[in-house]
Amino acid sequence: MDWKSSAEAVIIGAGIVGVSTAYYLAKHGVKDVVLVEKGTICSGSTGRCGAGIRAQWGTEMNCRLGIAALDIFEQLDDELGMSIGLNQGGYLLVAYTDEEKETLRKGMLLQNSLGIQSRQITLSEAREICPGLAAEDATGFFFHARDGHADPFLTTFAYLEAAKRLGVTCHRNTTCTGVTVRDGAVRGVETDKGPISAPIVINCAGAYSQDIAAMAGVELPNWAERHEILITEPVAAGVCPCMLMSFSGNYYIQQRPHGSIICGMSPDGRPEDHDNGTSWQFVEKMSRVLAKLLPRTRGIRVARQWSGQYDMTPDAQPVIGETDVKNFYHSTGYSGHGFMLAPVAGKILAQHITGGKPDIDFTMLDYRRFARGEHIMESNVV
Ligand SMILES: Cc1cc2nc3c(=O)[nH]c(=O)nc-3n(C[C@H](O)[C@H](O)[C@H](O)COP(=O)(O)OP(=O)(O)OC[C@H]3O[C@@H](n4cnc5c(N)ncnc54)[C@H](O)[C@@H]3O)c2cc1C
Repeated sequence: MDWKSSAEAVIIGAGIVGVSTAYYLAKHGVKDVVLVEKGTICSGSTGRCGAGIRAQWGTEMNCRLGIAALDIFEQLDDELGMSIGLNQGGYLLVAYTDEEKETLRKGMLLQNSLGIQSRQITLSEAREICPGLAAEDATGFFFHARDGHADPFLTTFAYLEAAKRLGVTCHRNTTCTGVTVRDGAVRGVETDKGPISAPIVINCAGAYSQDIAAMAGVELPNWAERHEILITEPVAAGVCPCMLMSFSGNYYIQQRPHGSIICGMSPDGRPEDHDNGTSWQFVEKMSRVLAKLLPRTRGIRVARQWSGQYDMTPDAQPVIGETDVKNFYHSTGYSGHGFMLAPVAGKILAQHITGGKPDIDFTMLDYRRFARGEHIMESNVV
C-alpha cells in the first residue's frame, strides 16, 4: 500500500475503538482518514476479549451508552454488509449477598427508567434461561434479553472493510513514535515509517494510550491491567445459552455458537503491566467456578488460555473528547467494556468532531474530571 504522508485525520490504534471511529468519521464526511497500527488489526485487547455486550449498568451514562450501542449492534450486519456474529442470549447477572442484590435492583430501576427492559427473575426462571445452573447460594438474578456477545474479529473487520470503502486507509505494522504539536494545536504524527501531517489526531491506543498522550505533553492517568481468559473444547449447545456474570462472584461465562465456552475473571492483585502471560492458577480457579456453577461442564478440556490488557482509568470509565492540545482527541480507558461501547463511542466522537450534536452528551467523560476529583464510580464491572 502506498504511504500516505498527509490526511484529514490520523487515528492511532486499530482495535475496535479506532476502527469504528474511522468508519463513523468517514460516514460523516471526513473520508481521508489514516489508521496507524503498530501490530495487526485486533492485535491489542480487542482480539483478546470476551466480546460481551450489555445494557445492564449502574450509572446513567453507561446505561445510555450501553443501550445506544445495542441499537447499533442489532443492525450492524446490514449496515456494514458483513456478519458480526451477534448472539443475543441475554446477560444473566447473579448476586451473592443481599447488599449486592439491592445494588443490582437499583441498577435495574435506573435501566428501566431509560427504556432498558431488564428484570429481576427467580432461580427457577434463571434455570429456564440457563439449564443446569447451580446457584442455590445466590441471593438474586437479573436478566436483560437483548444483551449478548459478538465476534470481536468479525466486528472489527466489518467496520474496517466498510471504512475502506469510504476512503479510509490503514497502515499496519506502523508504530506512532511522536505526536506533533505546534502553537497549541496538533499537526500530525511521527511514525517509524515516516511522518503524517494531519489537522486532527485521535488517540485510540488502548492500554498504550497514556504513552501516546504523553507524546503530545498531555497527562492521562490510564494504566494497563492484565486479565486472563480461557476457551474450552466445543460441547453441546445450550450449556450456557446466556452470558452468565457476577460482580462479587468475579466471573463471566458464555458459549460460542460452535459450542466452546469462553470464561474469565479479574486477577488477584490486579497486575499492572503490558505482559500477556498466563498462569495455571487462573485455570485452576476458573475451572472450579465453572464446575460449581455449571456442573455439566465437569470434565470439559481447556483448549487454550491467553491474557490481554484492560486500559484502566481511576473510575473504570472511558475518556472521550478533546485534550488541552487543540484537535488532539482521546477515546480510551475502556477498562473491561470497550468492545461493547465502541460502536456508540466512535459514532458520538465523529459527530462531535464534524460539528454535529452527538446522540449522547459525553462531556462528563472529559479526562479533566480526574484532576477535579469527579469520578463516575460504576459498580457493575468485573
Ligand atoms: C480478557 C479480556 C476480556 C474482555 N472482555 C470484554 C467484554 O466481554 N466486553 C467488552 O466490551 N470488553 C471486554 N474487554 C475490554 C475490551 O477488549 C477493550 O475495552 C477494547 O478492546 C478496547 O479497544 P481499543 O480499540 O481501545 O484497544 P485495543 O484493541 O487494544 O487497540 C489499541 C491498538 O493500539 C495499538 N497501538 C498501541 N500503541 C501504538 C503505537 N505507538 N502506534 C501504533 N499503534 C499502537 C495497539 O497495537 C492496539 O492494536 C475485555 C478485555 C480483556 C483483556
